[in-house]
Amino acid sequence: NTFAEIDLGEALNLNIRRCKYVKPTPVQRYAIPISLAGRDLMACAQTGSGKTAAFCFPIISGIMRGPVPQKPLRGARTVFPLALILSPTRELSMQIHEEARKFSYQTGVKVVVAYGGAPINQQLRELERGVDILVATPGRLVDLLERARVSLQMIRYLALDEADRMLDMGFEPQIRKIVEQMDMPPPGVRQTMLFSATFPREIQRLASDFLSNYIFLAV
Ligand code: AMP
Repeated sequence: NTFAEIDLGEALNLNIRRCKYVKPTPVQRYAIPISLAGRDLMACAQTGSGKTAAFCFPIISGIMRGPVPQKPLRGARTVFPLALILSPTRELSMQIHEEARKFSYQTGVKVVVAYGGAPINQQLRELERGVDILVATPGRLVDLLERARVSLQMIRYLALDEADRMLDMGFEPQIRKIVEQMDMPPPGVRQTMLFSATFPREIQRLASDFLSNYIFLAV
């Protein structure tokens, strides 16, 4: 019933206390244990429900406690994030980045954001300094993939936030292109979380294409 009872790793639990989060919100209460158990998740959650923490906590905890990844040597400028959080807009990406950074303080987990409508050069410099969790809008990420500045080969966690809004904005082709790049061997290592306020048929189709054996959560 409190975050103190959920073992997310010492550094993350400390950051959660620093943020003055004591009690999980309903979506957090169910989504966090499901994700910690390694299951894919499709969650119906509105803005303000606490969904950002619901997907950030398991990702940060998993990276903190997971094995040190052997990142392939590719072009020196290609980076290999372990987690990807896709969001529809620049504003939402910035918010997620800000929260994720607070939660990952002194955990050794590095969070970088990349969104469209802003010069790419500063984002490239940030990426070059290393990234574990990449928060991105779909269009800008496709650009980074085409420039071979980001590889999705090492992605272990994928979170799609406000998936219905991303589809409304016409991002489905970009999202499919992005997820295709993760479907490289070794298979079965990616854990996926899909958050959406509504569940029209197009979202159900995304869920059946991207998630495996998932748990459906409506709060
Ligand atoms: P979100 O739905 O992720 O945008 O979160 C909405 C707001 O609630 C944000 O300002 C969060 O910092 C805050 N929040 C999320 N989870 C909790 C919690 N368990 N306790 C207190 N505040 C929270």
